[in-house]
Amino acid sequence: MKQDLEQFVLENFQSALEKRHIQPYYQPVIRTISQKLCSFEALARWVDPERGVIRPDQFIPVLERAKLIHLLDECIIHQVCERLRRSMDSAQVPIPVSVNLSRQDFQLCDVYAMVDKLTRSHQIPHEFLYIEITESSMSEQEELMHSIVDRFHTGGYQVWMDDFGSAYSSLNTLKDYTFDELKLDMRFLSSFSQRSRRILTAVVHMAKEINVHTLAEGVENEDQFRYLRNIGCEKVQGYFFGRPLPYEESLEHLCATGIRIETPQERKYYDDIGRVNLLSAVPFITREEHDALTSARQLNSIPLALVEMDESHFKLLFHNTAFEQTAQGTGLFPDVFDVRLMGTPQPAALLSEKFRRLLDATRSGEPGKMYLISREEYYEVQAKCVSQLGERYCVLL
Ligand code: C2E
Ligand code: CA
Ligand code: CA
Repeated sequence: MKQDLEQFVLENFQSALEKRHIQPYYQPVIRTISQKLCSFEALARWVDPERGVIRPDQFIPVLERAKLIHLLDECIIHQVCERLRRSMDSAQVPIPVSVNLSRQDFQLCDVYAMVDKLTRSHQIPHEFLYIEITESSMSEQEELMHSIVDRFHTGGYQVWMDDFGSAYSSLNTLKDYTFDELKLDMRFLSSFSQRSRRILTAVVHMAKEINVHTLAEGVENEDQFRYLRNIGCEKVQGYFFGRPLPYEESLEHLCATGIRIETPQERKYYDDIGRVNLLSAVPFITREEHDALTSARQLNSIPLALVEMDESHFKLLFHNTAFEQTAQGTGLFPDVFDVRLMGTPQPAALLSEKFRRLLDATRSGEPGKMYLISREEYYEVQAKCVSQLGERYCVLL
């Protein structure tokens, strides 16, 4: 059966291209904050008059083995450009479309020239075509990939990293290339456990820190959608909002479910909103200020410190900038912010009796609290013992 399909693909590929039996189906991408349609992903379908719809996982591997895959991608991008042209000519709102490139395209043809020729001949502004590259293809042929990604960027196209988190060097790829958007692999959602939720949260947080947009694939239910929206993941794609369908059918489905289309003006507006990191401890600072924060000790707006105590001494093991600024006003640590003394053990007598009692009380395992007023400011100090070794113990403040 498999062999039969392989043979069918090889024998009929050329004529299927010519007869347009191979065509893009369009799956909606939804903006979480507005629940509007922001783009489509074009996914190839081979619609054979006798065999019915053949899915990409059935013919793409065959085409890759036969080194013909670039012809499929060209044919899909061609039809996507035609579709965009038709929307523009009929005064409909043009909806951006993301297209998939195969890793082999980069060896088999000049991909940039191929895409550029198609957008030029159909007069498609480049902001309407997003280029998806799977992260696994980035780890090979690094130099070539760098120059291709740069070329697409210079040409005004967005480049998205597809299937982020599925390959073995995702983080390195992210470090080495500039992407506009990360498509989080759908396996993150396949078991929607506490653990996978935490990983998703961390990935979204990280993406915002490096100023990359986020899109989660494979969203199949409302719980997943709500969770992603809550952590600030900007876009979602999945069966919950719509399966890949021919263009008109996909639009009809969206219309029937009450989903409206984002305008190009709204796109910029929402993209800027999407840059806010709702998970950040310092969401109010500007990107420039953020970039200037180089060490982790500065990156939390909650004043935090770790104080180590023993019988007669205390030592500030760690403190962040917010703590430094706050503590200086309180007189809590009169001498420790002297640079020379920082981090060296100080006599416990330097601390107020009340404060020492608070620290000591945390050794029972119960967190403690105290209030103090200094220079007309009111402070609440929370303390929790995080570790003990004999008479030595460490308190998080
Ligand atoms: P992909 O780029 O990761 O595309 C997403 C795949 O997930 C699509 O499968 C889509 O139908 C499916 N999907 C979307 N939402 C959900 C969901 O909620 N749940 C589940 N379980 N699946 C969902 P599809 O269309 O079968 O495509 C499979 C792969 O084939 C694509 O994965 C892509 O790598 C490749 N492909 C598709 N079209 C093209 C193309 O034109 N060119 C190239 N080079 N590759 C293509
Ligand atoms: Ca894709
Ligand atoms: Ca994907």
